[in-house]
Amino acid sequence: MFPLIGIFGTSIYIYFYGVVWYEPILLLVFWFISGMGITMGYHRLFSHKSYQTNTFLEWVLMIFGSLALENTVLKWSSDHRKHHSFSETEDDPYSIVKGFWHAHIGWVLKNTTEEKSRIVGVKDLEKKSAIIFQNKYYYHIAIIGGVLIPLLIGLMYGRPLGAVLWGSFLRITLVHHATFLINSLCHYKGKRTYDSSSTSRDSWFISLFTFGEGYHNYHHKFPSDFRNGISWFAFDPSKWIISILSFFRITSHLRKTKDHLIFKSKFETLHTTLIERLNNSNEIYQNLYKDRLSVLSKSANDILLSWQKIDINVNSISSYIDKKHLKEYRSEIKKIFKDLHNISRKLNKRGLVTNTI
Ligand SMILES: [Zn+2]
Ligand SMILES: [Zn+2]
Repeated sequence: MFPLIGIFGTSIYIYFYGVVWYEPILLLVFWFISGMGITMGYHRLFSHKSYQTNTFLEWVLMIFGSLALENTVLKWSSDHRKHHSFSETEDDPYSIVKGFWHAHIGWVLKNTTEEKSRIVGVKDLEKKSAIIFQNKYYYHIAIIGGVLIPLLIGLMYGRPLGAVLWGSFLRITLVHHATFLINSLCHYKGKRTYDSSSTSRDSWFISLFTFGEGYHNYHHKFPSDFRNGISWFAFDPSKWIISILSFFRITSHLRKTKDHLIFKSKFETLHTTLIERLNNSNEIYQNLYKDRLSVLSKSANDILLSWQKIDINVNSISSYIDKKHLKEYRSEIKKIFKDLHNISRKLNKRGLVTNTI
């Protein structure tokens, strides 16, 4: 009903009464609040514990997340942890293997009464005061915050129906389908840079309206990392806000995957893909590139091993020598990637493309 009322109801309302600027702003503000409640709260804080914070922010994120009407933290986290632990199996609630529609919204519609109450693997969250309160008053919070507050704002400027259509129904439709796209499109189309065996994909485009959650291949590979988009230019507002709050000590213990592990997974994915492509090609190409690939593989493994030794004592990285080595490893591994991409381009030119990279 939400998409029907949100899209058609709002369109009919606009046709008869037009738009006032308060309404798109109301939609954007409530979208931001409820969307951040889901990504920063439900997802990165509660489901993955990728950072820590104080009880006050836990309450704020619980309330904001409730406004998205995506169920309680416990149910959301239980489903989500199953999605990560049992990806693409019968126990993955939104498995892409069952089809795009199932992963997108079908699983919500099919949800049986038993399944709705089946909450497992979230004992660590049950004692939090915000969660205990939400379990008792979920619908009260969602309706007061998600519907009544937009209605009151609408009454203040004289268009309560317009405010509810924009700030509640249309906004909830957008928040829902943005989240659902992570489960469907981000397991369907995009690059698999960090793990080619997973169906999850990276999509910068989806990140634009999911507060940075589109880098899903990286997230499936390193789920406890507080970032989803790791490069400085990757659009990930959730990561930026968590980082900014850490300067004020509101967030702490931000979990970050070590760089050598990220490079290792990137290297292994690209190398495996190139080997697969060569195996499917003829002997001429195999002779041309296989030896080169094994030399690059050996160099990369040597560098990553030395890098790992320094990273183990990451807290002691203070010496000039260690810093110098890190800089060297980074630049050497980047050269190796450049070589691998060159080989990949040459194979592309010869039509030896797979859809993995
Ligand atoms: Zn996923
Ligand atoms: Zn996740």
